Amino acid sequence: ADLIKKLENTIENIPDFPIPGIQFKDISPIFLDPKLYEEVIADLAAASKGKVDAVCGIESRGYLFGIAIAVALEVPFILIRKKGKLPPPIISEKYDLEYGSAEIETREGQIKKGQRILIHDDLLATGGTTEAAAKLIEKQGATVAQFSFLIGLKSLNGDEKLKKFGAEVYHILEY
Ligand code: IMP
Repeated sequence: ADLIKKLENTIENIPDFPIPGIQFKDISPIFLDPKLYEEVIADLAAASKGKVDAVCGIESRGYLFGIAIAVALEVPFILIRKKGKLPPPIISEKYDLEYGSAEIETREGQIKKGQRILIHDDLLATGGTTEAAAKLIEKQGATVAQFSFLIGLKSLNGDEKLKKFGAEVYHILEY
């Protein structure tokens, strides 16, 4: 509860960014406070302890916490990147955006068959990106054991999209 309060006081809400109607949550002030950052990592690592064999972070804010979670849990960290950034061989997954489509990728062989994977990102909005990440992991014979986020945006019902993977959805705070 203490951590939630501190985060609520630290994360900035910027109305109408990047487009009118969006309430943008800026997490960057967390990195000005190393003690708070440590508390965030301790919370997220505790939520996943013993439940996962590897952590997948989603580009790019998913890396800011994802690597530290993996190090705390002493498990591998795998980068999920946007199309065209990783060298071959890669495995990819296409998904639809509001306008057009996007693609995410991992290096082939970094995710092992049968692994229980934590998918981590800073924020869950519609769940579109995270859903594609989960499909990318299942395609490689691993299972999604858990999803974790700093922030869940309740009104966008991202949790609904993730239900079919049968994994716990953890977030520290909700808006
Ligand atoms: P989704 O696919 O709609 O769930 O969008 C989630 C992705 O969009 C995450 O990678 C977030 O980093 C990013 N995102 C969406 N809204 C915000 C916001 O208000 N603040 C920071 N990131 C956001």
